[in-house]
Amino acid sequence: MNTTILGYPRIGPRRELKVATEDHWAGRADDAALLETGARLRAQVWTTLRDAGLDGIPSNTFSFYDQVLDTSVLVDAVPARYRHLSGLDRYFAMARGVQDVPALEMTKWFDTNYHYIVPEIGPDTRFRLAEGSASKPLVEYREAKALGVDTRPVLVGPLTYLLLAKPAPGAPAGFRPLDLLDGLVDVYAELLERLSGAGASWVQLDEPALVADRSAEEIEALGRAYARLSGLTSRPRLLVATYFGSVGADALRVLAGTGVEGIGLDLVAGPGNLDVLASVGGVPRKTVVAGVVDGRNVWRADARRAKAACAALLGLADRVVVGTSCSLQHVPLDLEAETSLDPSVRERLAFARQKVDEVVALGRALNTDVRTTPEGPAPSAGIDHRVRARLDMLGDAHRGDRATRFAVQRAALGLPDLATTTIGSFPQTREIRRARADHRAGRISGEVYTGLMQDEIARVIAFQEKLGLDVLVHGEPERNDMVQYFAEQLDGFAATEHGWVQSYGSRYVRPPILHSDVARPRPMTVRWATYAQSLTDRPVKGMLTGPVTMLAWSFVRDDQPLADTARQVALALRDEIGDLESAGIRIIQVDEPALRELLPLRSGGHAAYLAWAVAAFRLATSGVADSTQIHTHMCYSEFGEIIEAIGALDADVTSVEAARSHMELVADLRAAGYANGIGPGVYDIHSPRVPSVEEMEENLRRALQAVEPSRLWVNPDCGLKTRAYPETEASLRTMVEAAHRVRQA
Ligand code: GLN
Ligand code: ZN
Repeated sequence: MNTTILGYPRIGPRRELKVATEDHWAGRADDAALLETGARLRAQVWTTLRDAGLDGIPSNTFSFYDQVLDTSVLVDAVPARYRHLSGLDRYFAMARGVQDVPALEMTKWFDTNYHYIVPEIGPDTRFRLAEGSASKPLVEYREAKALGVDTRPVLVGPLTYLLLAKPAPGAPAGFRPLDLLDGLVDVYAELLERLSGAGASWVQLDEPALVADRSAEEIEALGRAYARLSGLTSRPRLLVATYFGSVGADALRVLAGTGVEGIGLDLVAGPGNLDVLASVGGVPRKTVVAGVVDGRNVWRADARRAKAACAALLGLADRVVVGTSCSLQHVPLDLEAETSLDPSVRERLAFARQKVDEVVALGRALNTDVRTTPEGPAPSAGIDHRVRARLDMLGDAHRGDRATRFAVQRAALGLPDLATTTIGSFPQTREIRRARADHRAGRISGEVYTGLMQDEIARVIAFQEKLGLDVLVHGEPERNDMVQYFAEQLDGFAATEHGWVQSYGSRYVRPPILHSDVARPRPMTVRWATYAQSLTDRPVKGMLTGPVTMLAWSFVRDDQPLADTARQVALALRDEIGDLESAGIRIIQVDEPALRELLPLRSGGHAAYLAWAVAAFRLATSGVADSTQIHTHMCYSEFGEIIEAIGALDADVTSVEAARSHMELVADLRAAGYANGIGPGVYDIHSPRVPSVEEMEENLRRALQAVEPSRLWVNPDCGLKTRAYPETEASLRTMVEAAHRVRQA
């Protein structure tokens, strides 16, 4: 093996997997049809990789939903509530739930935007290798072999699997899934023996958990697991792949001491890996897969840097294999499908298919030792000198004294205690979606489109006035997505036509590409906000997406620190906020739902990240007068390590999800020194259920134990765009009623 990749997109060039699974769910296609599509997509990937000249070809990277869920099925970690079902019905029930049986939880895979299905492990879980067609790695290995492709099956490693699991409901306090490691490793041992019997010469075990902080006990468990697996007499060679950061020196030392033949290191996200490897004295008898081609981002590899990294590794390992930093499932499939990208941007890009070529070319360059033709200068990002000069001048920015702001805003806005509002979006009806699509496709003119959106805004304003809300919103009908909407209007961003990446199950996203200096050629939201404000005397909140969230949900240039890019986005938002203020908008909300998501995996990186994230938010929001009220919103309530950063954002009002956590968060925020307004979500918008007025009153009373009435805001816990009007009306009516009752009391 000279070249390899750790995984490849499975969704198909035309999103065939999405179509097939959704047809199956809707009853339009049977099991056989779905399985057939799966087999075709896998065959396509294997032959593509072989024909590209790659020699280490992964298998079992396909999934009908998620690779962690596949692992749960493989080792029979199936909770009792799904056991009356079988086959694909059971599988999809675990992923999505069925009538009366809720799905397993879903959460983000490390710091990516991919979501996995969380295993539920209890003391009674008995791991057992699934038989027959359920033994997926074995089936897919044989399937590829029948096509003439000898592959390397990829498994989620046993340590990472258990560290990602959560204790089953009802498990005794103190029980940890990791307690069951030995039983799980027995199953992996059996699987490895069978794979070896089927002819597999290598197996890849993914252990990304090793790039986060790990306890001594966890490291010990790692050593135990891999000593056992590598001690098997008949087994394939083992590649333990780490990615998304630097592996800890202690973990690497332990792995180096086991008999595993290969270790995968991420040399893009974790350039520290070279130092870590040197610090443990290298792995002189092992193969290192050098993750030099970035699996997380869309930029072409810097061949010179990649070769230098491989060269540095040569003295530290027995063999160096050129590889990707992680699975390519996190990038779009093929740049060839993009026909309307600006050529100066396009020439800087490589999607999954192009990255395979890069790996192969690097492998050749490294192994033939011939001087390849010198690479021309790397194409570079567009520079905007005006933006850079303004940012230099601005330095660190912050607002004036918060007590003064509070007093001035109270006088200027004249709002009651427990002011009621919403998070921004209102239900996106079929008519709204159709109008946007028609406009995009040129089927209706700009004027007709503007008229349709204005009608919708007028309806939403009238609706909120009728309900008696205090601070109104325009409803965001013109937005397809809270990041894409702004990316389309800012210089420095590009959109793809087919750049889909799986987010979870059949949900794929098409992240914008932030490729050059960011600038705002013209106002982005002012005409909609001012139109809404012209229809009412109550304040209408302007609605923007914050710099961190803009970065988190895009592919971002990697030729300068994220902090610098964030400041450019912040400057554009600062100008937008200034224009909204000048146009008479008195309250402006800057959403940062992704603030926690970008938090580095290791605690050592937290402070530096939070410093630039907070600075970018403050740069965006500090250009306004004391009388202009800045809100922010986050869609979660487990603030943990970021609670102080929330305070440091210094928004006048922060709305958060709290309905499901019973408002403890309000007290937590106050205890952490946050002294501004708080809008704990008083009901859960993720469910169509309409809570009673008593329930919402109770939530408000609880919050009032920690915050004074003038600083408490009353709102749902997130935007309403995925809801329908009937439950929205009922819930908001109840919410306003609850606020009235508590105010009266
Ligand atoms: N203002 C956005 C909305 O209401 C916020 C979305 C979000 O928090 N993710 O839809
Ligand atoms: Zn939200």
